Amino acid sequence: MRSVIIAANWKMHTVPAEAAGLAATIAARTADPDVMQVICPPFVALAAVRDALAGTGLAVGAQNVHHETTGAYTGEVSAPMLVGLATWVIVGHSERRRDAGETDELIGRKLQRAWDAGLRPILCVGEQLEDREAGRAEAVVDAQLRGALAEVGAGEDARARFAGLVIAYEPVWAIGTGRNARGADAAAMADAIRATLSRLGVADGGSGVPVLYGGSVTAANIAEFLAEPTIDGALVGGASLKPDEMAGIVGRAAVTARARLAVASGNGVT
Ligand code: PEP
Repeated sequence: MRSVIIAANWKMHTVPAEAAGLAATIAARTADPDVMQVICPPFVALAAVRDALAGTGLAVGAQNVHHETTGAYTGEVSAPMLVGLATWVIVGHSERRRDAGETDELIGRKLQRAWDAGLRPILCVGEQLEDREAGRAEAVVDAQLRGALAEVGAGEDARARFAGLVIAYEPVWAIGTGRNARGADAAAMADAIRATLSRLGVADGGSGVPVLYGGSVTAANIAEFLAEPTIDGALVGGASLKPDEMAGIVGRAAVTARARLAVASGNGVT
């Protein structure tokens, strides 16, 4: 069965000394064996957050990775450089698609580098508001997935690679805006995502791939998403910098995780 995952994207917030304290505070208030938690601080705070989270059960993720492993790429960070600092990495966040012009093909190469280095990737996809209003949301996300994953599917160890994949569905119009999607719409998109993954050759029709929702998630609205059986958690931006919000979000996720575990082991109340 799929894990319940809460991933925190701190974006360009916190200097290393603050990051360590914030990570320790969040871990002390949220650590729960039934929820997989990942904190993704800025690159320069990875070591401090790794040390702060040692022994807590929370994992560390990077927010980006370069599409080559080494070379003349001033200012960039490659996947092998992240080994020992992080075990997860966010790939294809809409802010990088927007600000760094990342294409689906480039994002696919980043995914390959992440997998080669043993990092677990969270691949972000999501439509613009005009796409949703025009009824194109699922087509846009389908194209993003195919663009990023087509090459992966061609590899001979594709099954093993896809096995660690996590998808974050993040409608661009919901990120940092305070305007979250409806749970039912996110759940419909999760079904569409797994249908695309199935067409790309992912084992078991994509049913083993966690799909997270991201976009203005808070302690007040997380329950709407976790009520959807096809949604496995959240990628949280702004609220992830606030320990009270994280306590509420992860607390709710723990309730969901335990309920799903009970159903899976046959003890659920139906
Ligand atoms: C994000 O950073 O991926 C995100 C969803 O941000 P926010 O929660 O602030 O909308």
